[in-house]
Amino acid sequence: MRIYESYTSKECSVCRKRHNLPLSQRTIICNCGNILNRDLNDAINIMQHFLLKNALWVGYQRFSDNLRQTGLSIGIWF
Ligand SMILES: [Zn+2]
Repeated sequence: MRIYESYTSKECSVCRKRHNLPLSQRTIICNCGNILNRDLNDAINIMQHFLLKNALWVGYQRFSDNLRQTGLSIGIWF
């Protein structure tokens, strides 16, 4: 699995819109309503790639909805 990361461009984990964030900005604020710490957003994007490869998209979407409802206190393990 290869994942490309840019240090200045971040993709919203919900709507896939790309945002140009300066390194000093730690939070993605997307007009789709997604507001996430950029590291957590990265983790979700990486997990999303992983889950897509494993055809668990529906499960991911449920997870994503829960994540947005419960805030940022969920740890992500691989
Ligand atoms: Zn978005």
